[in-house]
Amino acid sequence: MRFEVPARLVRYWLDGVSLVPAISSVEASGAGTPAPDGLVRASILIEGGRIARIVAGVAPPDGVPRLAGNGRLVLPRLVDVHTHLDKGQVFHRAANPDGTFMGARETVGRDREANWSAEDVRARMDFALRSALHHGTGAIRTHLDSIGKQIGISWPVFDEMRSEWKGRIALQAACLMPVVNVIDNPAEFKSIVATLKRYGGILGAVTFLGDPPDGKLDAALHRMIEAAKAEGFDLDFHVDESNSPDARSLEVIADALIRHKFTGKALAGHCCSLALMTDAERERVTGKLVEAGLNVVSLPMCNMYLQDRQAGITPRWRGVAPLHELDAAGVSTMVSSDNTRDPFYAYGDLDAVEVYREATRILHFDHSARPWLETLTARPAAQMRLEKHGRIAPGLPADLVIFSARTMNEFLSRPQADRLVLIDGKAIDAPLPDYVELDAL
Ligand SMILES: [Zn+2]
Repeated sequence: MRFEVPARLVRYWLDGVSLVPAISSVEASGAGTPAPDGLVRASILIEGGRIARIVAGVAPPDGVPRLAGNGRLVLPRLVDVHTHLDKGQVFHRAANPDGTFMGARETVGRDREANWSAEDVRARMDFALRSALHHGTGAIRTHLDSIGKQIGISWPVFDEMRSEWKGRIALQAACLMPVVNVIDNPAEFKSIVATLKRYGGILGAVTFLGDPPDGKLDAALHRMIEAAKAEGFDLDFHVDESNSPDARSLEVIADALIRHKFTGKALAGHCCSLALMTDAERERVTGKLVEAGLNVVSLPMCNMYLQDRQAGITPRWRGVAPLHELDAAGVSTMVSSDNTRDPFYAYGDLDAVEVYREATRILHFDHSARPWLETLTARPAAQMRLEKHGRIAPGLPADLVIFSARTMNEFLSRPQADRLVLIDGKAIDAPLPDYVELDAL
């Protein structure tokens, strides 16, 4: 039977649910030992939309109404730190012709030029956000293609959506441009910096476009980091999304951050080629990531789709960054959706649970003692400086996702389509948008 939270309840216990210890603050007294899959049994007292207490085991007999959790898994609403809300949901009009990275770039470029009006971007963003809300996502960072006239179209639309969605999904945006644009088009870079200041954006760029790192990359990074330091921007790069041995910009970025003593938050997405380095090379680069505070988000679904694709040849590698090694070395690692139904990834629905399920299979999150659920909760929340997201703790809003699954195996074996999403302790009524809406775009 589907779990329900009656709307009239303002003070109630979620009694006897399963929690992930690494992201849940359970009161120490009487805490039981975790189950073999690491989950612990606990009860959550919700009061006026906030989490008031989290006790181990069953709720105390205090007369407060209690909803029998029967061991259901409860997570905080999820945090999707790397998405492209401006590109998504165009499969019907701009499918990748051959599933390759080049096919993706060319098709997106044409679609952007022809179709990305404010109305078009707004409609697709809204569709994506309704999907994400339905699935239980509480915060999203999107990259926004920031090239030419698109800068003046996408950023104001994003700003509107951020206000409109306040209280449902916390939104952040990072600019996305080829890193060489910083040098080749200084006037445009200046206008991007002004745009980020105006809208509170993150400074981002894609660093590898097929050539080995050179002096131009260093010069561009120098200007970006100087701008970030001067204006207080955090940084977010698309890095080495390739199996090419020339894709070596990750180390160059880490070196630049160390040299400039950058103290803001910095994130590197993809880092695919890092997985194909020799152990010695990877360890050297990883050490620099730790020193630079440069964290890594892997985009496993998009990587599996694009990497190692050649017509008529079965792919031989998974395309993902070496998260186990990075995590063990102390790099804050994350996973995220990336693209959705666009030329870079043909599928997806902004469902972070799907991302976690796929990441488990692709990156072997299972049979591992590391608390990998942090990769879609506490860690991306910290990266986004969102103090009220990504954890279940007293004082935080009761923004929760309640699953019928009671174990990690049950959680990973079904799509969890019957999950219940709470915002401020209340169950939301947020159906998935219908694909018919996209037909007219
Ligand atoms: Zn991306």
